[in-house]
Amino acid sequence: MPTILIAGAGHGGLSAAKRLAEAGCDVHIYEKCSRSTIGHDWADYIPINALAENGFTPIPHEKLAPCYPMCFVSPMKAITAGPPDRKRLVPHGVHAGRRDIAASMIADCEAAGVHFHFGCAILQPLAEGKRIKGFSYTDESGQTAEVRGDMVIDAAGAFSPIRMQLPKECRVPKKYGKYQVMYAWRGVFNRLPGEPESMIDIYLYHRNRRGISWVMTEPAYMDVLLSAMDRPITEEEIEEALTDLRESNPRIGKTRLQGGYQAPLPLRRPLARFVCDGYCAVGDSACFCGPLDGCGIRAAIRQGQILAEVLLQAAGDYSVEKLWQYQLRSLEELDTARRCREDRMRQMLMRLKPAQVELLFQSGLIGHRRLRKPRDGIKLLTDYPKLLALLPRFAAMLLKTRVLKLCLQHFPKHYPHRPNLWQSIYEKS
Ligand SMILES: Cc1cc2nc3c(=O)[nH]c(=O)nc-3n(C[C@H](O)[C@H](O)[C@H](O)COP(=O)(O)OP(=O)(O)OC[C@H]3O[C@@H](n4cnc5c(N)ncnc54)[C@H](O)[C@@H]3O)c2cc1C
Repeated sequence: MPTILIAGAGHGGLSAAKRLAEAGCDVHIYEKCSRSTIGHDWADYIPINALAENGFTPIPHEKLAPCYPMCFVSPMKAITAGPPDRKRLVPHGVHAGRRDIAASMIADCEAAGVHFHFGCAILQPLAEGKRIKGFSYTDESGQTAEVRGDMVIDAAGAFSPIRMQLPKECRVPKKYGKYQVMYAWRGVFNRLPGEPESMIDIYLYHRNRRGISWVMTEPAYMDVLLSAMDRPITEEEIEEALTDLRESNPRIGKTRLQGGYQAPLPLRRPLARFVCDGYCAVGDSACFCGPLDGCGIRAAIRQGQILAEVLLQAAGDYSVEKLWQYQLRSLEELDTARRCREDRMRQMLMRLKPAQVELLFQSGLIGHRRLRKPRDGIKLLTDYPKLLALLPRFAAMLLKTRVLKLCLQHFPKHYPHRPNLWQSIYEKS
């Protein structure tokens, strides 16, 4: 049976690992963290069935917390756009501890026969021409070693050392362009007495920075996220933003209970290619996450299942042509046509100035529904009466930037089955 090497114990890698090991493959996961430190120490949104629908043991109910709908705050904080009933729970959505998810998935993988190598930091891919054969790593004792197998699954996250060092001929994007990666600082603080209701407030362009901040008011704590696009957020910016958020949310205490560090969040790149001979990326290393969509974890797990099915069907032929089926299926099943629209909407919003976003809020062109459901959001481009009224304020910006081009750009509804053709469409967009 083939030897499958998995770089990083990311969700997509764990998901594929279990399925492949159950089918008899020799599966090895190399993870830089120790078993107990994998995953963040906070809780995240996941659809309640994200584990069970993919063959994993669900997290026990007593460890889950309910989710509440999001409410958007405009850059100048003049407008708050929320759902009609803020107390309503998000159906089928829960908050689950990252470490609980990792521990549960790892235990299921071990039971299926997956071999874990904790404390092994991967250094770089081993390539022969454009075929990936394995990778090098340093183990717990600091020794450097190499491992080779039939197939490498890259689940090492946003800055995977494998993806970022693939040979050019693989044609997999290695770096991030403008507005393609968000750096998020997250801290969980004690909750001071005050309004008892639970809610999630999302601040757009908070402190005039491209990106979002959020304050989640939970019964027992306050969960704060701050972010910046394309660069880590500085210590000074963190302090300023926290002071500002405490003014609007006096319930945020000063004692930090969890988090207090930054993590990168690569934004979904709907038409990029993440496969080459002997190599596939899953989850964040394949830029499969959509912020505010809250589905990075579920998308990675689902992708892992699709990948395992494709690898089992490929019966040892791990050429890019066979692996393309994985890319194609995950793009189709995980709703890429919609993601293309989201990508356009995000690219457009990122190119606006905070005052212009404020104006869009004021005019009613963007609001809760359009931000929450980008499928509807893109309709703002056809809301002609409101757009015409705003045109004088936006004309200069439209002419100067790529916004107009992005808005008008055609994106495919059906995807070509040939990787190089697909790639050329992406590169033109
Ligand atoms: C602040 C924040 C909040 C988020 N909130 C949500 C949310 O509410 N819901 C949601 O679904 N998603 C959320 N996401 C997105 C989510 O984290 C990812 O999309 C999801 O975890 C999928 O990523 P992954 O499993 O592929 O990679 P990761 O979770 O990044 O896992 C990568 C693994 O590879 C390991 N690794 C990295 N480098 C190496 C190396 N050199 N050698 C060996 N191992 C290595 C890492 O230690 C890690 O275990 C959030 C992200 C951030 C940053």
